[in-house]
Amino acid sequence: MIPAIDTLRLTAEAAIGLVERGELSAGELHTAYLDAIREHDEALHAYLCTAPMNGGTGIPIALKDTISTKGVETTAGSRILAGYVPVFDATVAARCKAAGLTLLGKTNTDEFAMGSSTENSAYGPSRNPWDPARVPGGSGGGTAAAVSGGLAPWGLGSDTGGSIKQPSALCGNVGLRPTYGTVSRYGVVAFASSLDQVGPVAKTVRDAALLYSIIAGRDPADSTTVELPEPVAVPTGDRLDGVRIGVPRQIEGLAAIEPGVRAAFERTLELVRELGAEVGECDLPLSFEYGMPCYYLIAPAEASSNLARYDGVRYGPRVDGASYREMIEQTRDHGFGDEPKRRIMLGTYALSAGYYDAYYGQAQKVRTLLVREHATAFENFGLIATPTSPTVAFPIGAKTTDPLAMYACDLLTIPSCLAGLPGLSIPCGLSEGLPVGLQLIGPQFGENALFRAGHALEGAIGFDYVPERLR
Ligand code: GLN
Repeated sequence: MIPAIDTLRLTAEAAIGLVERGELSAGELHTAYLDAIREHDEALHAYLCTAPMNGGTGIPIALKDTISTKGVETTAGSRILAGYVPVFDATVAARCKAAGLTLLGKTNTDEFAMGSSTENSAYGPSRNPWDPARVPGGSGGGTAAAVSGGLAPWGLGSDTGGSIKQPSALCGNVGLRPTYGTVSRYGVVAFASSLDQVGPVAKTVRDAALLYSIIAGRDPADSTTVELPEPVAVPTGDRLDGVRIGVPRQIEGLAAIEPGVRAAFERTLELVRELGAEVGECDLPLSFEYGMPCYYLIAPAEASSNLARYDGVRYGPRVDGASYREMIEQTRDHGFGDEPKRRIMLGTYALSAGYYDAYYGQAQKVRTLLVREHATAFENFGLIATPTSPTVAFPIGAKTTDPLAMYACDLLTIPSCLAGLPGLSIPCGLSEGLPVGLQLIGPQFGENALFRAGHALEGAIGFDYVPERLR
Protein backbone atom coordinates (compact mmCIF):
# COMPACT_ATOMS: atom_id res chain seq x y z
CA MET A 1 0.00 0.00 0.00
CA ILE A 2 1.37 3.39 -0.97
CA PRO A 3 0.64 5.93 1.77
CA ALA A 4 -1.68 8.72 0.66
CA ILE A 5 0.33 11.78 -0.30
CA ASP A 6 -1.06 15.27 0.10
CA THR A 7 0.67 16.78 -2.93
CA LEU A 8 -0.88 20.17 -2.15
CA ARG A 9 0.95 20.40 1.14
CA LEU A 10 4.09 18.32 0.66
CA THR A 11 7.23 20.45 0.39
CA ALA A 12 10.17 19.28 -1.69
CA GLU A 13 12.24 19.06 1.46
CA ALA A 14 9.64 16.79 3.12
CA ALA A 15 9.39 14.71 -0.06
CA ILE A 16 13.17 14.24 -0.08
CA GLY A 17 12.89 13.09 3.53
CA LEU A 18 10.22 10.50 2.65
CA VAL A 19 12.40 9.05 -0.12
CA GLU A 20 15.62 9.13 1.91
CA ARG A 21 14.02 7.33 4.82
CA GLY A 22 12.62 4.72 2.45
CA GLU A 23 9.01 5.55 3.32
CA LEU A 24 8.30 6.10 -0.34
CA SER A 25 10.17 5.19 -3.50
CA ALA A 26 11.03 7.70 -6.18
CA GLY A 27 8.67 5.82 -8.51
CA GLU A 28 5.75 5.96 -6.06
CA LEU A 29 6.24 9.68 -5.60
CA HIS A 30 6.42 10.29 -9.34
CA THR A 31 3.24 8.24 -9.85
CA ALA A 32 1.43 10.18 -7.12
CA TYR A 33 2.12 13.44 -8.94
CA LEU A 34 1.21 12.02 -12.35
CA ASP A 35 -2.09 10.88 -10.80
CA ALA A 36 -2.69 14.38 -9.43
CA ILE A 37 -1.92 15.84 -12.85
CA ARG A 38 -4.30 13.41 -14.54
CA GLU A 39 -7.03 14.37 -12.14
CA HIS A 40 -6.59 18.13 -11.93
CA ASP A 41 -4.63 19.47 -14.87
CA GLU A 42 -7.57 19.54 -17.20
CA ALA A 43 -8.86 22.42 -15.08
CA LEU A 44 -5.50 24.17 -14.61
CA HIS A 45 -3.63 23.45 -17.86
CA ALA A 46 -0.34 23.89 -16.06
CA TYR A 47 1.35 21.27 -18.24
CA LEU A 48 1.93 21.13 -21.97
CA CYS A 49 3.09 17.53 -21.70
CA THR A 50 3.94 15.01 -19.00
CA ALA A 51 6.82 12.55 -18.98
CA PRO A 52 6.86 8.94 -17.82
CA MET A 53 9.44 8.20 -15.16
CA ASN A 54 12.79 7.75 -16.83
CA GLY A 55 15.43 6.94 -14.22
CA GLY A 56 16.16 9.03 -11.16
CA THR A 57 16.17 8.17 -7.50
CA GLY A 58 14.97 11.46 -6.11
CA ILE A 59 11.84 13.55 -6.14
CA PRO A 60 10.00 14.90 -9.20
CA ILE A 61 10.28 18.33 -10.80
CA ALA A 62 8.36 20.36 -13.39
CA LEU A 63 10.32 22.34 -15.98
CA LYS A 64 9.09 25.34 -17.88
CA ASP A 65 8.80 24.57 -21.56
CA THR A 66 11.54 27.07 -22.41
CA ILE A 67 14.04 24.55 -21.03
CA SER A 68 15.31 21.96 -23.54
CA THR A 69 14.79 18.37 -22.44
CA LYS A 70 16.37 15.52 -24.33
CA GLY A 71 13.70 13.30 -25.87
CA VAL A 72 10.81 15.39 -24.49
CA GLU A 73 9.00 17.90 -26.70
CA THR A 74 10.04 21.52 -26.04
CA THR A 75 7.90 24.23 -27.63
CA ALA A 76 8.38 27.39 -25.53
CA GLY A 77 4.62 27.79 -25.89
CA SER A 78 4.95 28.42 -29.63
CA ARG A 79 3.44 26.74 -32.65
CA ILE A 80 6.71 27.32 -34.49
CA LEU A 81 8.34 24.70 -32.25
CA ALA A 82 5.43 22.22 -32.26
CA GLY A 83 6.82 18.70 -32.33
CA TYR A 84 10.41 19.81 -31.69
CA VAL A 85 12.17 17.18 -29.59
CA PRO A 86 15.63 18.31 -28.43
CA VAL A 87 18.53 15.90 -28.80
CA PHE A 88 20.23 17.35 -25.73
CA ASP A 89 19.39 18.57 -22.24
CA ALA A 90 19.76 22.18 -21.17
CA THR A 91 22.46 22.36 -18.50
CA VAL A 92 19.84 23.07 -15.83
CA ALA A 93 17.84 19.99 -16.90
CA ALA A 94 21.02 17.90 -16.89
CA ARG A 95 21.89 19.15 -13.40
CA CYS A 96 18.43 18.21 -12.13
CA LYS A 97 18.88 14.75 -13.64
CA ALA A 98 22.33 14.39 -12.12
CA ALA A 99 20.79 15.21 -8.73
CA GLY A 100 18.35 12.33 -9.24
CA LEU A 101 15.28 14.48 -9.91
CA THR A 102 12.64 12.95 -12.16
CA LEU A 103 10.99 15.05 -14.87
CA LEU A 104 7.21 15.24 -14.40
CA GLY A 105 6.59 17.28 -17.51
CA LYS A 106 6.92 20.59 -19.28
CA THR A 107 4.90 23.53 -18.06
CA ASN A 108 2.97 26.13 -19.98
CA THR A 109 4.41 29.53 -20.82
CA ASP A 110 3.56 32.60 -22.83
CA GLU A 111 4.98 32.12 -26.31
CA PHE A 112 8.77 32.50 -26.06
CA ALA A 113 8.19 33.72 -22.49
CA MET A 114 6.68 36.95 -23.79
CA GLY A 115 3.84 37.88 -21.51
CA SER A 116 2.58 38.12 -17.95
CA SER A 117 -0.40 35.76 -17.89
CA THR A 118 0.26 32.65 -20.11
CA GLU A 119 -2.52 33.93 -22.34
CA ASN A 120 0.04 34.35 -25.13
CA SER A 121 0.71 30.60 -25.14
CA ALA A 122 -0.20 29.09 -28.50
CA TYR A 123 -1.68 26.20 -26.52
CA GLY A 124 -4.14 28.18 -24.40
CA PRO A 125 -3.79 29.77 -20.97
CA SER A 126 -3.07 28.14 -17.63
CA ARG A 127 -5.37 28.90 -14.71
CA ASN A 128 -4.69 30.07 -11.18
CA PRO A 129 -5.32 27.36 -8.56
CA TRP A 130 -6.60 30.05 -6.15
CA ASP A 131 -9.31 31.00 -8.65
CA PRO A 132 -9.41 29.22 -12.01
CA ALA A 133 -11.20 32.18 -13.60
CA ARG A 134 -7.97 34.14 -13.11
CA VAL A 135 -4.52 34.03 -14.67
CA PRO A 136 -1.59 32.43 -12.84
CA GLY A 137 0.71 35.21 -14.05
CA GLY A 138 3.40 34.76 -16.64
CA SER A 139 5.26 33.95 -18.52
CA GLY A 140 5.99 31.03 -16.18
CA GLY A 141 2.38 30.62 -15.08
CA GLY A 142 2.47 26.89 -15.82
CA THR A 143 5.19 26.12 -13.28
CA ALA A 144 3.58 28.41 -10.69
CA ALA A 145 0.12 26.84 -11.16
CA ALA A 146 1.65 23.34 -10.98
CA VAL A 147 3.43 24.08 -7.70
CA SER A 148 0.53 25.82 -5.96
CA GLY A 149 -2.02 23.35 -7.36
CA GLY A 150 -0.17 20.32 -5.94
CA LEU A 151 0.90 19.08 -9.38
CA ALA A 152 4.65 19.35 -8.68
CA PRO A 153 6.67 19.73 -5.48
CA TRP A 154 8.81 22.37 -7.17
CA GLY A 155 9.81 23.55 -10.61
CA LEU A 156 12.06 25.73 -12.70
CA GLY A 157 11.05 28.88 -14.51
CA SER A 158 12.95 31.35 -16.65
CA ASP A 159 12.86 35.07 -15.99
CA THR A 160 13.64 37.92 -18.37
CA GLY A 161 11.69 40.75 -16.77
CA GLY A 162 9.63 39.04 -14.09
CA SER A 163 8.51 35.65 -15.36
CA ILE A 164 9.53 33.77 -12.22
CA LYS A 165 8.77 36.40 -9.58
CA GLN A 166 5.42 37.65 -10.88
CA PRO A 167 3.68 34.25 -11.37
CA SER A 168 5.08 33.11 -8.02
CA ALA A 169 3.45 36.15 -6.44
CA LEU A 170 0.12 35.58 -8.15
CA CYS A 171 -0.01 31.89 -7.18
CA GLY A 172 1.31 32.16 -3.61
CA ASN A 173 4.67 30.52 -4.33
CA VAL A 174 8.27 31.36 -3.53
CA GLY A 175 10.24 32.29 -6.66
CA LEU A 176 13.85 33.27 -7.13
CA ARG A 177 15.29 35.09 -10.09
CA PRO A 178 19.03 34.57 -9.54
CA THR A 179 21.88 37.00 -10.16
CA TYR A 180 22.56 37.15 -13.90
CA GLY A 181 25.35 34.71 -14.70
CA THR A 182 24.92 32.34 -11.79
CA VAL A 183 22.73 29.88 -13.73
CA SER A 184 23.49 28.49 -17.17
CA ARG A 185 21.36 29.49 -20.15
CA TYR A 186 22.75 26.68 -22.29
CA GLY A 187 19.79 24.90 -23.87
CA VAL A 188 17.27 27.47 -22.65
CA VAL A 189 15.16 28.83 -25.51
CA ALA A 190 16.55 32.35 -25.88
CA PHE A 191 14.32 35.40 -25.49
CA ALA A 192 16.64 38.26 -24.47
CA SER A 193 20.06 36.84 -23.75
CA SER A 194 21.36 39.68 -21.58
CA LEU A 195 18.37 39.26 -19.28
CA ASP A 196 17.25 35.60 -19.37
CA GLN A 197 17.92 33.66 -16.19
CA VAL A 198 16.58 30.32 -14.91
CA GLY A 199 15.45 29.93 -11.31
CA PRO A 200 13.39 27.92 -8.83
CA VAL A 201 9.69 28.09 -8.00
CA ALA A 202 8.75 26.36 -4.75
CA LYS A 203 6.45 26.28 -1.74
CA THR A 204 9.09 27.43 0.76
CA VAL A 205 12.25 29.50 0.79
CA ARG A 206 14.27 26.48 1.94
CA ASP A 207 13.01 24.49 -1.06
CA ALA A 208 13.97 27.37 -3.37
CA ALA A 209 17.47 27.47 -1.86
CA LEU A 210 17.86 23.70 -2.24
CA LEU A 211 16.87 23.81 -5.89
CA TYR A 212 19.06 26.83 -6.56
CA SER A 213 22.03 24.91 -5.11
CA ILE A 214 21.39 22.14 -7.67
CA ILE A 215 21.32 24.38 -10.75
CA ALA A 216 23.72 27.23 -9.95
CA GLY A 217 27.39 27.57 -10.81
CA ARG A 218 29.71 27.95 -13.74
CA ASP A 219 28.96 26.04 -16.93
CA PRO A 220 31.68 25.81 -19.58
CA ALA A 221 28.90 25.75 -22.21
CA ASP A 222 27.70 29.26 -21.21
CA SER A 223 30.47 31.83 -21.14
CA THR A 224 28.33 34.30 -19.19
CA THR A 225 28.29 32.03 -16.12
CA VAL A 226 30.52 32.31 -13.08
CA GLU A 227 31.29 30.15 -10.08
CA LEU A 228 29.34 31.21 -7.00
CA PRO A 229 31.51 33.28 -4.62
CA GLU A 230 30.14 31.27 -1.69
CA PRO A 231 28.18 28.02 -1.43
CA VAL A 232 24.39 28.19 -1.25
CA ALA A 233 23.28 28.17 2.40
CA VAL A 234 19.87 26.63 3.02
CA PRO A 235 18.46 29.16 5.49
CA THR A 236 17.66 28.72 9.17
CA GLY A 237 16.89 31.33 11.79
CA ASP A 238 13.94 33.55 12.51
CA ARG A 239 15.38 37.02 13.11
CA LEU A 240 16.41 39.92 10.92
CA ASP A 241 18.62 41.75 13.41
CA GLY A 242 21.16 43.98 11.75
CA VAL A 243 19.48 43.83 8.33
CA ARG A 244 18.75 47.19 6.71
CA ILE A 245 15.91 47.11 4.22
CA GLY A 246 15.33 49.95 1.78
CA VAL A 247 11.91 50.75 0.33
CA PRO A 248 12.11 52.89 -2.81
CA ARG A 249 10.39 56.21 -2.16
CA GLN A 250 8.93 56.02 -5.68
CA ILE A 251 6.56 53.22 -4.56
CA GLU A 252 4.48 55.76 -2.62
CA GLY A 253 3.14 57.53 -5.69
CA LEU A 254 2.52 54.51 -7.91
CA ALA A 255 -1.19 54.48 -8.66
CA ALA A 256 -0.83 51.08 -10.35
CA ILE A 257 -0.37 49.39 -6.97
CA GLU A 258 -3.75 48.11 -5.75
CA PRO A 259 -4.76 49.26 -2.24
CA GLY A 260 -5.01 45.64 -1.04
CA VAL A 261 -1.50 44.91 -2.29
CA ARG A 262 -0.19 48.04 -0.61
CA ALA A 263 -1.87 47.09 2.66
CA ALA A 264 -0.32 43.60 2.65
CA PHE A 265 3.06 45.13 1.85
CA GLU A 266 2.78 47.67 4.70
CA ARG A 267 1.78 44.92 7.15
CA THR A 268 4.82 42.94 6.06
CA LEU A 269 7.12 45.91 6.66
CA GLU A 270 5.76 46.02 10.21
CA LEU A 271 6.75 42.37 10.64
CA VAL A 272 10.15 43.13 9.17
CA ARG A 273 10.66 45.72 11.91
CA GLU A 274 9.38 43.36 14.60
CA LEU A 275 11.96 40.81 13.52
CA GLY A 276 14.70 43.31 14.25
CA ALA A 277 15.42 44.80 10.82
CA GLU A 278 15.68 48.49 10.14
CA VAL A 279 13.45 49.84 7.38
CA GLY A 280 14.39 53.03 5.55
CA GLU A 281 13.74 54.88 2.34
CA CYS A 282 15.95 54.42 -0.71
CA ASP A 283 15.84 56.29 -3.97
CA LEU A 284 15.51 54.68 -7.41
CA PRO A 285 14.10 57.51 -9.55
CA LEU A 286 15.50 56.36 -12.90
CA SER A 287 14.42 52.76 -12.36
CA PHE A 288 10.79 53.68 -12.03
CA GLU A 289 10.77 56.31 -14.74
CA TYR A 290 12.84 54.54 -17.39
CA GLY A 291 12.90 50.86 -16.41
CA MET A 292 9.90 49.85 -18.49
CA PRO A 293 10.75 51.74 -21.70
CA CYS A 294 14.36 50.61 -21.40
CA TYR A 295 13.27 46.96 -21.03
CA TYR A 296 10.82 47.19 -23.92
CA LEU A 297 13.63 48.28 -26.23
CA ILE A 298 16.36 45.92 -25.05
CA ALA A 299 14.22 42.77 -24.69
CA PRO A 300 12.50 43.02 -28.11
CA ALA A 301 15.80 44.00 -29.78
CA GLU A 302 17.52 40.89 -28.49
CA ALA A 303 14.42 38.80 -29.17
CA SER A 304 14.27 39.91 -32.80
CA SER A 305 17.79 38.61 -33.23
CA ASN A 306 17.27 35.39 -31.23
CA LEU A 307 14.05 34.50 -33.02
CA ALA A 308 15.65 34.82 -36.45
CA ARG A 309 16.67 31.17 -36.17
CA TYR A 310 13.08 29.93 -36.58
CA ASP A 311 12.99 29.65 -40.33
CA GLY A 312 11.29 26.34 -41.09
CA VAL A 313 14.67 24.76 -41.83
CA ARG A 314 16.27 24.15 -38.47
CA TYR A 315 13.36 23.56 -36.11
CA GLY A 316 9.72 22.61 -36.01
CA PRO A 317 7.06 22.60 -38.71
CA ARG A 318 7.48 24.16 -42.15
CA VAL A 319 4.91 25.86 -44.34
CA ASP A 320 5.97 25.45 -47.95
CA GLY A 321 6.21 28.31 -50.43
CA ALA A 322 7.15 28.82 -54.08
CA SER A 323 10.64 30.02 -53.11
CA TYR A 324 13.02 29.72 -50.15
CA ARG A 325 12.10 33.21 -49.07
CA GLU A 326 8.38 32.57 -49.34
CA MET A 327 8.74 29.34 -47.35
CA ILE A 328 10.42 31.25 -44.52
CA GLU A 329 7.82 34.02 -44.63
CA GLN A 330 4.93 31.56 -44.56
CA THR A 331 6.50 29.49 -41.79
CA ARG A 332 7.10 32.53 -39.61
CA ASP A 333 3.71 34.01 -40.38
CA HIS A 334 1.90 30.83 -39.36
CA GLY A 335 4.31 29.82 -36.62
CA PHE A 336 4.54 32.99 -34.53
CA GLY A 337 1.65 34.46 -32.58
CA ASP A 338 0.88 38.18 -32.30
CA GLU A 339 3.17 38.97 -29.36
CA PRO A 340 6.42 37.58 -30.81
CA LYS A 341 5.55 39.27 -34.12
CA ARG A 342 4.99 42.58 -32.34
CA ARG A 343 8.35 42.27 -30.58
CA ILE A 344 10.25 41.14 -33.67
CA MET A 345 9.02 44.25 -35.48
CA LEU A 346 9.79 46.54 -32.56
CA GLY A 347 13.21 45.01 -32.03
CA THR A 348 14.18 44.99 -35.68
CA TYR A 349 13.26 48.66 -35.88
CA ALA A 350 15.23 49.53 -32.73
CA LEU A 351 18.31 47.77 -34.10
CA SER A 352 18.18 49.10 -37.65
CA ALA A 353 20.84 51.40 -39.07
CA GLY A 354 20.06 54.99 -38.20
CA TYR A 355 17.89 54.04 -35.23
CA TYR A 356 20.31 51.83 -33.28
CA ASP A 357 21.95 54.77 -31.48
CA ALA A 358 18.66 56.49 -30.77
CA TYR A 359 16.96 53.40 -29.35
CA TYR A 360 18.99 50.30 -28.50
CA GLY A 361 22.23 52.18 -27.80
CA GLN A 362 20.39 54.73 -25.70
CA ALA A 363 18.55 52.03 -23.75
CA GLN A 364 21.86 50.33 -22.94
CA LYS A 365 23.18 53.60 -21.53
CA VAL A 366 20.07 53.99 -19.40
CA ARG A 367 20.60 50.43 -18.24
CA THR A 368 24.07 51.35 -16.98
CA LEU A 369 22.50 54.18 -15.00
CA LEU A 370 20.05 51.72 -13.44
CA VAL A 371 22.94 49.46 -12.46
CA ARG A 372 24.66 52.42 -10.75
CA GLU A 373 21.48 53.62 -9.09
CA HIS A 374 20.97 50.19 -7.51
CA ALA A 375 24.63 50.00 -6.46
CA THR A 376 24.23 53.34 -4.68
CA ALA A 377 21.13 52.10 -2.87
CA PHE A 378 23.05 49.03 -1.69
CA GLU A 379 25.68 51.27 -0.09
CA ASN A 380 23.09 51.99 2.60
CA PHE A 381 20.88 48.94 2.55
CA GLY A 382 21.34 45.18 2.59
CA LEU A 383 18.13 44.48 0.71
CA ILE A 384 15.43 46.40 -1.15
CA ALA A 385 11.74 45.60 -0.69
CA THR A 386 8.71 46.28 -2.89
CA PRO A 387 5.53 44.41 -3.72
CA THR A 388 6.30 41.90 -6.50
CA SER A 389 3.27 42.68 -8.63
CA PRO A 390 1.16 45.84 -8.47
CA THR A 391 -2.00 43.71 -8.61
CA VAL A 392 -3.28 40.32 -7.52
CA ALA A 393 -4.18 37.73 -10.17
CA PHE A 394 -6.56 39.29 -12.70
CA PRO A 395 -9.41 37.61 -14.59
CA ILE A 396 -8.54 35.71 -17.75
CA GLY A 397 -9.11 38.04 -20.71
CA ALA A 398 -8.89 41.27 -18.66
CA LYS A 399 -5.72 42.55 -20.37
CA THR A 400 -5.49 40.56 -23.60
CA THR A 401 -6.57 43.43 -25.84
CA ASP A 402 -4.21 45.95 -24.25
CA PRO A 403 -0.52 45.01 -24.61
CA LEU A 404 0.61 48.05 -22.62
CA ALA A 405 -1.56 47.06 -19.64
CA MET A 406 -0.02 43.58 -19.82
CA TYR A 407 3.50 45.08 -19.97
CA ALA A 408 2.76 47.12 -16.84
CA CYS A 409 2.45 43.91 -14.76
CA ASP A 410 6.24 43.90 -14.52
CA LEU A 411 6.66 47.50 -13.46
CA LEU A 412 8.22 46.46 -10.14
CA THR A 413 10.18 43.41 -11.24
CA ILE A 414 11.89 44.86 -14.33
CA PRO A 415 14.39 47.40 -12.90
CA SER A 416 16.39 44.86 -10.88
CA CYS A 417 16.37 42.45 -13.85
CA LEU A 418 17.96 45.14 -15.99
CA ALA A 419 20.53 45.66 -13.22
CA GLY A 420 21.32 41.90 -13.22
CA LEU A 421 20.34 41.59 -9.55
CA PRO A 422 18.75 38.66 -7.74
CA GLY A 423 15.15 38.92 -6.56
CA LEU A 424 13.08 36.69 -4.32
CA SER A 425 9.30 36.76 -4.20
CA ILE A 426 7.56 35.31 -1.16
CA PRO A 427 3.85 35.31 -0.38
CA CYS A 428 3.10 38.00 2.22
CA GLY A 429 -0.65 37.84 2.65
CA LEU A 430 -3.93 38.00 0.81
CA SER A 431 -5.92 40.72 -0.91
CA GLU A 432 -9.45 39.89 -2.04
CA GLY A 433 -8.66 36.29 -1.07
CA LEU A 434 -5.75 36.15 -3.52
CA PRO A 435 -2.01 35.94 -2.78
CA VAL A 436 0.18 39.04 -2.64
CA GLY A 437 3.92 38.77 -3.22
CA LEU A 438 6.74 40.58 -1.45
CA GLN A 439 9.78 41.19 -3.64
CA LEU A 440 13.18 41.32 -1.96
CA ILE A 441 16.06 42.48 -4.13
CA GLY A 442 19.64 41.72 -3.17
CA PRO A 443 23.02 42.94 -4.36
CA GLN A 444 24.87 40.84 -6.94
CA PHE A 445 25.39 37.30 -5.58
CA GLY A 446 23.22 38.21 -2.58
CA GLU A 447 21.11 35.03 -2.83
CA ASN A 448 22.08 33.78 0.64
CA ALA A 449 21.01 37.05 2.22
CA LEU A 450 17.72 36.83 0.32
CA PHE A 451 17.16 33.26 1.51
CA ARG A 452 17.93 34.18 5.13
CA ALA A 453 15.59 37.16 5.16
CA GLY A 454 12.94 35.35 3.14
CA HIS A 455 12.99 32.36 5.47
CA ALA A 456 12.75 34.44 8.65
CA LEU A 457 9.89 36.46 7.21
CA GLU A 458 8.10 33.41 5.86
CA GLY A 459 7.98 32.04 9.41
CA ALA A 460 6.62 35.29 10.79
CA ILE A 461 4.05 35.73 8.01
CA GLY A 462 2.75 32.18 8.35
CA PHE A 463 1.17 32.19 4.88
CA ASP A 464 -0.71 29.00 4.05
CA TYR A 465 0.38 28.16 0.52
CA VAL A 466 -2.46 25.73 -0.14
CA PRO A 467 -5.10 27.63 -2.13
CA GLU A 468 -8.05 28.37 0.13
CA ARG A 469 -10.65 26.62 -2.03
CA LEU A 470 -8.59 23.41 -2.05
CA ARG A 471 -8.02 23.11 1.72
N1 GLN B 1 6.25 40.07 -18.90
C1 GLN B 1 7.55 40.42 -19.36
C2 GLN B 1 7.56 40.33 -20.87
O1 GLN B 1 6.54 40.12 -21.43
C3 GLN B 1 8.59 39.53 -18.76
C4 GLN B 1 8.56 38.17 -19.32
C5 GLN B 1 9.70 37.31 -18.86
O2 GLN B 1 10.31 37.57 -17.83
N2 GLN B 1 10.00 36.31 -19.65
O3 GLN B 1 8.56 40.47 -21.49
